Amino acid sequence: MQEKGNISIHTENIFPVIKKFLYSDNEIFLRELVSNAVDATQKLKRLASLGNYRGEVGDATIEISLDEVAKTITISDKGIGMTADEIKKYINQIAFSGATEFMEKFKEAKDANEIIGRFGLGFYSAFMVADKVEIQTLSYQTDAEPAQWVCDGSTSYEISTGKKAERGTDVILYINKESEEFLNKSKLDEILAKYCRFLPVPIKFGKKTQSEPDGEDAEGKPKYKSIEVDNIINNTNPAWTKAPSELKDEDYLAFYRELYPFSDEPLFWIHLNVDYPFNLTGILYFPKIKNDFDLQRNKIKLFSRQVFITDEVKDIVPEFLMLLHGVIDSPDIPLNVSRSFLQADSNVKRISNYITKKVADKLNELFKTERKSFEDKWKDIGLFVKYGMVSEDKFAEKANDFALLQNVDKEFFTLKEYAEKVKDIQKDKNDNIIYLYSNDLATQDSFVTAAKDKGYDVLLLDSPIDSHFVNYLEQKLEKTQLKRVDSDVIDKLIQKDDDKALDLSEEESGTVKSLFEKAIGKENMQVEIEALGSEEMPVTVTMDEFMRRMKDMAQNGGGMGFYGNLPDSYKVSVNGNHPLIRRILSSADDGEKENLAKQAFDLALLSRGLLTGSELTSFVKRSVSLIN
Ligand code: ADP
Repeated sequence: MQEKGNISIHTENIFPVIKKFLYSDNEIFLRELVSNAVDATQKLKRLASLGNYRGEVGDATIEISLDEVAKTITISDKGIGMTADEIKKYINQIAFSGATEFMEKFKEAKDANEIIGRFGLGFYSAFMVADKVEIQTLSYQTDAEPAQWVCDGSTSYEISTGKKAERGTDVILYINKESEEFLNKSKLDEILAKYCRFLPVPIKFGKKTQSEPDGEDAEGKPKYKSIEVDNIINNTNPAWTKAPSELKDEDYLAFYRELYPFSDEPLFWIHLNVDYPFNLTGILYFPKIKNDFDLQRNKIKLFSRQVFITDEVKDIVPEFLMLLHGVIDSPDIPLNVSRSFLQADSNVKRISNYITKKVADKLNELFKTERKSFEDKWKDIGLFVKYGMVSEDKFAEKANDFALLQNVDKEFFTLKEYAEKVKDIQKDKNDNIIYLYSNDLATQDSFVTAAKDKGYDVLLLDSPIDSHFVNYLEQKLEKTQLKRVDSDVIDKLIQKDDDKALDLSEEESGTVKSLFEKAIGKENMQVEIEALGSEEMPVTVTMDEFMRRMKDMAQNGGGMGFYGNLPDSYKVSVNGNHPLIRRILSSADDGEKENLAKQAFDLALLSRGLLTGSELTSFVKRSVSLIN
């Protein structure tokens, strides 16, 4: 039997097009051909289990072989094989409605995945790397004849009686000049490790040496010998394909190490397992986060029936969960279509919602059953939770129950508990509840101490996400404001009815004000005389909460151009009720007046870490002369 014919495409020659447009991704030819081999093998197993195939299935290992001399790569399976008629049907009639449509569409296609998926060109991706492709195949069907198909990359092929003596299919690629990089064992190792590592059928590529016991030596010690064994490159039964009930913690941790060999242990994990209304399995791990620079996106790997597709899971996994690690496997995600389509796809939206819900449920469960350990992990978990709350309403609804606030004494509260704790004592005269927070204990200690002396509580909100979280809380909580503890003097942060009287006359106030203005001599330092308790500091330097937030936002690229350009401007609160002010006023020596004012101001700067350089030097000198 011999037959020649033309692959049914009505346009001249598709292969140069495929080659040209798919070049960047050409390594996926191996994924496509190995996936076909896996499909053929699984079909055979299914037929056998249904009783439709009565022969021996036997060892169904798929073999990949490399012949550097002949410049070929061969993918051999022991699957269902094909008859000549099936080759004509499945291989020759390229599975898309018409070449015209293809030629139209490929113009927009951005990558190989897109073209291959959309047009069912899996097998033809072989022509990205091969001048000539040969199929040798023998169908599982009784009395089937071996068939061979050869095609040199033009639209003509040759089909004839083949040489294959055993059931299955060999696809032989005669690698072209430009693709010789693939004729390299370590290159193929790398591609197989990337795409085929968890395929469900064993895949053998080359040999490896292994040591094996070899009796005992003269002294009775065990001896070993090196032997060559088949190198199986994949784990056919990865953890995510198993039922959660089959797995112990150790198994989840072992799988994590398999995925990310050099990472710290994860904090905990979620096993995803759903088959209606879409099919999805996977394991998501919460990593330990060492620091904020350590945040790594794109650590989740997306699979479709155990074939690796991509580690760009944007759109499938909500943004805030991109920091998680692990695996998602779904045959229902349209993997090969464009991004815009993906965003509009209802399955994708449902999957994303499902994952969000599962994550929220898991966190809620941890919080309820192991609150102490949940609190211990909050430093890491908090980041996801806060990020999730500010970005996803659905998540925020659930997270309201388990989101925690930590105060500077390292105590944890839920949002509800905290509101209860401060609602009476931190209410101002307008019935607003004021939450005080610090983002840096090192430079805000004097403010934190002043607040605590008043019996107030101070939250610690010191991660980068917290500036957004502060805004979020203010929007969500009723009649509640958040103020950084150094944004005003304590009596002004939470203004009560009991306004203190100022011990200075109007004239004295004016004198003190200009005296300080002169001593400080800086335009961005706005001096104000205030009536504070005599036990408070004589001078305090603060930056207005609103102003600071605007500047922070501008710095984080929030587009607040105007505020971003303003210099830092501070308020210098001079405590008119402090005895030092009286002393300054009553001093007869102008030099001493100025020195005392400077000293009090510098102390205020010093207490919040703002005194540096030459100003610090002159402060030290002045201090020495004052104690001398
Ligand atoms: P897809 O796999 O998306 O259907 P392909 O172009 O990769 O598209 O393959 C077309 C068809 O050729 C397959 O559906 C299958 O019927 C047949 N085929 C390809 N490779 C093999 C193989 N190794 N064994 C048996 N049949 C195969």
